[in-house]
Amino acid sequence: MSQAEAYDLIIVGGGPAGLTAGIYAMRAALKTVLIEKGPAGGQIVLSDEVENWPGTERIGGTELAMNMANHADSYGLEVRNQEVVAIEPGLDIHTVRLDSGESITAHAVILSTGGSPRQLNIPGENEFYGKGVSYCAVCDGFFFRGKTVMVIGGGDSAVEESLYLAKLAKRVYIAHRRDALRASRILQQRAMNDCNIEILWNSVPVEIHAAPEGPVDRVTLKDTRSGETREMPVDGVFIFIGFQPNNAVVPAGIKLNAQGYVITDAKCETDIPGIFAVGDLREKYARQIVTAAADGAVAALASAHFVETKKATAADTCELPVQ
Ligand code: NAP
Repeated sequence: MSQAEAYDLIIVGGGPAGLTAGIYAMRAALKTVLIEKGPAGGQIVLSDEVENWPGTERIGGTELAMNMANHADSYGLEVRNQEVVAIEPGLDIHTVRLDSGESITAHAVILSTGGSPRQLNIPGENEFYGKGVSYCAVCDGFFFRGKTVMVIGGGDSAVEESLYLAKLAKRVYIAHRRDALRASRILQQRAMNDCNIEILWNSVPVEIHAAPEGPVDRVTLKDTRSGETREMPVDGVFIFIGFQPNNAVVPAGIKLNAQGYVITDAKCETDIPGIFAVGDLREKYARQIVTAAADGAVAALASAHFVETKKATAADTCELPVQ
């Protein structure tokens, strides 16, 4: 595609925020392309079950992702399986560079690159990744049927994934650094009522160990109050201590908060006109599938207004009589 054939809108990332933006953009008749390096759906494909998508009491994460992708496809949304390596903002048009070496341009860009699991950064975490250390219960839980696992964290992800693991594993320990969970009340109650789950309060892992050439066999836990350590035999460690924003391709000049999340206005627009940020990448109060989808809708509608205004201004300028 040449510069003259710019898209109206490029969406970077195909999770719930990006796919919803795609649906709204196509309905607004914007010439749109969505770039996604992995499978559609983002983080939700890692969820066993989603229970808070309005109108659907319970749905598998992968199924919900497929529904969203199919919905966007029904409007003819162009999706490219490529990686964005850089975004260069321009005054009139923004350029998005792809890993293939190709560059595409658009009047508006929606960044929906989401976040990635945060790491503990303790000895053994990287060494034994895939050999007992995991960041995805739905992907790897199957390998721990009848075994003992430890989940690290006290948020919604840690508790939700523990409940999933408790259906497969012999024993699930949740090691949490405080004496109260951060997770929502309903999840807390379910974990407390599950006799297969034991919560280890005020505990943080300081090292993950494995037998020579073997998989994970134990974790050294530290008591956050006394500082004492002890070893717990486990077969697997699932780490859910939050996310960090995938902000690598966010162009310079866009303001980030101290944690690296993009700061936007109520339209999800960044400091650079025509560049929007949505979903888990954006600074916001609640990171839920429904709020990601809402961001996508807002940003697509705002993009449509931005693009129409740009085109109308350009047309007016062209009609000015030559002096
Ligand atoms: P989160 O809410 O940020 O929770 C992270 C947990 O890990 C906290 O309990 C935190 O402890 C602990 N933690 C952080 N750093 C740690 C460290 N270095 N060592 C030990 N523990 C550490 O992250 P999340 O659970 O991944 O959830 C992310 C967002 O997605 C949240 O907004 C959540 O509500 C949402 N979410 C929603 C659902 C749902 O609605 N079904 C499911 C999953 C996620 P402290 O509590 O002491 O800070």
